[in-house]
Amino acid sequence: MTAVLAAGAGLVLTGSAPLAAGIVAGGFLIDVDHLADYLIVERRRELTPAAFLRHYIEGHTRRVVLVLHSYELWLALAALAWWLDSAWLAGYLAGGAMHLGLDIVFNGRLTPKNIFAFYSLGFRLAHGFDATTLFGSEPRIAPAGFWRSFIFGSRLARASRPRG
Ligand SMILES: [Zn+2]
Repeated sequence: MTAVLAAGAGLVLTGSAPLAAGIVAGGFLIDVDHLADYLIVERRRELTPAAFLRHYIEGHTRRVVLVLHSYELWLALAALAWWLDSAWLAGYLAGGAMHLGLDIVFNGRLTPKNIFAFYSLGFRLAHGFDATTLFGSEPRIAPAGFWRSFIFGSRLARASRPRG
């Protein structure tokens, strides 16, 4: 929601479609790394959104790599955006910064651990990406907003639309 609003504002202010697309990518699609973790790190093969959500909500997460959720990658991409002079990448970084800020605010309430350190890839690497060490006993870092808005949210919106 925030990403769409920001993208709309970006489009109106700059008239740049690549910038707006980048904001959406940074705001929403950054959460694809949860899916990458699920498939590659956790080696899960059940590809239904329900199984995916259950995995996170029930706290089965053992490792959190989440390569896109990191200050390091953000900074590396910022250097790249400057070097390439890329509007798309600049948009991605704006969306990504917003997303990480919101994740810090919301996930910070779920963990007794240091949430700022959690979003450093180096810090996670130093702790072997261990979910319990990094996030506490029950890592609930499910991208609920992402899936709910895209799958359940869109289904609800369609169901409530008047027929005809
Ligand atoms: Zn996220």
